[in-house]
Amino acid sequence: MSTVLDEIQAPAGAGRVITDPATGDEVGRVPIATTADLDAAIAAARAAQPSWAQLGDARRVDLLNAAADALQEHAEELAVLLSREQGKPLNGPNARFEVGACEAWLRASTAPDVSPQVLVDDGQIRAEIHYRPLGVVGAIGPWNWPMMISIWQIAPNLRMGNTVVVKPSEFTPLSVLALVSVLNTVLPPDVLIAVPGGRDVGEAMAAHPGIDKIMFTGSIPTGKAIIRSSADTVKRVTMELGGNDAGIVLDDADPAAIAQDLFWGAFINTGQTCAALKRLYVPDSLYDAVCEELTKVAAATPMGVGLSEENLLGPVQNRKQYDIVASLVEQAKDSGARVLLGGDPDPQAVGNFYPTTLVADIDNDNPLVAQEQFGPALPIIRYTNLQQAIAWANGLEVGLGASVWSPSPQRAREVAMQLNAGTVWVNEHGAIDPRVPFGGAKGSGYGVEFGREGLLECAQAVSVKGPAGSFA
Ligand code: NAD
Repeated sequence: MSTVLDEIQAPAGAGRVITDPATGDEVGRVPIATTADLDAAIAAARAAQPSWAQLGDARRVDLLNAAADALQEHAEELAVLLSREQGKPLNGPNARFEVGACEAWLRASTAPDVSPQVLVDDGQIRAEIHYRPLGVVGAIGPWNWPMMISIWQIAPNLRMGNTVVVKPSEFTPLSVLALVSVLNTVLPPDVLIAVPGGRDVGEAMAAHPGIDKIMFTGSIPTGKAIIRSSADTVKRVTMELGGNDAGIVLDDADPAAIAQDLFWGAFINTGQTCAALKRLYVPDSLYDAVCEELTKVAAATPMGVGLSEENLLGPVQNRKQYDIVASLVEQAKDSGARVLLGGDPDPQAVGNFYPTTLVADIDNDNPLVAQEQFGPALPIIRYTNLQQAIAWANGLEVGLGASVWSPSPQRAREVAMQLNAGTVWVNEHGAIDPRVPFGGAKGSGYGVEFGREGLLECAQAVSVKGPAGSFA
């Protein structure tokens, strides 16, 4: 029986080999798309868009739910491919979780009411707002959560009557091609097309006159490049960019009770998560206890090859990112910071395994704190004055997420209201929800995804207005 991978990969001898970051083994061969392939995909998606829009919302919702059923049927196969290509283990908040999230987000995108609304009807004036399709949307994604982030870009656009051309990350294209292939067992032809190209294809997509909007998730420099490339065509853009999320523990927290959630807030997907906890601020009075409890959890969490069922942490997806993590930890060590755990990668190791690393007694301006590490290393910064900790948390040019940890609802709210980020979590971190809008503040980007607000960003708002009785 042929697998999804058989269907999507390039024939033997063709394409580009993708290797497993845990073992170096070949996962498959990705076809190499050019800008000419992109042009053809955009033309096909443009041709398909009017009839997709004319199907109507109810029929599109049915098809999206049927596509979610198809994902469920192929869930294990998709999770295994994702684990091999991205490196993330099958278990824990990793590969099976990601495929499950794709299904959940797809279904959730069908729930909000996006029908036209009457804004004014006062006997003199009638005004309505309608949400019409934009046309063809280009989706450009990263390598950390390749399937889930693609679904965040695909699902709301299909719901709103747009067709979508997806350009996956060059590090994880097979996962996205497989995802698209399964969705396309249900969707009409050319409503959703994947183009597995490199940055040249991404650049061409951002500048392309046949693309009406770009949904981008990735790094800040690339986001800026896309904004520039898209300017001449006045494209709509949603920018989900990098972050460097702070968490502040208040002095009434119970270190043993919060350690597990703090750990996974930081180390979900082995730290390769945009809205992971990347700087932890802990009051002097709890500092040693939080360090001790976190170290216990971290030391007990197995890291290894993704396909082994016992592992919960995996390799860093690519060598470039591994080197960034390693260099930041080395700089922290050189500055005199205290390594509680890890920080000593095995140079002989097969695969990009960087050990789970906790670094204490580190200054707020150390590069491991000030820069996004995007890997399995967490700096823990001591504070004596809460206002100082809040100022440090808000002190960077990014603001994707932030969190506050306290058993006191009033104190937690008071601090939460002072944190400048797109999402502020209380007693959790990174716990995204398809019903709750998610987006960045400051340099972390603009536009939101999820919920009704996220759907409306995939539509052209059209106001219809006239004297009362002039239209029905
Ligand atoms: P990246 O910016 O290097 O690449 C992302 C995508 O952009 C890839 O598909 C790449 O081919 C494409 N690309 C590269 N140059 C381009 C150009 N000039 N024009 C158009 N497309 C281009 O990001 P990455 O390394 O894959 O992802 C890691 C970064 O993404 C981290 O900074 C992380 O914080 C961020 N991220 C943010 C979110 C979020 O929701 N805010 C989610 C995940 C990751």
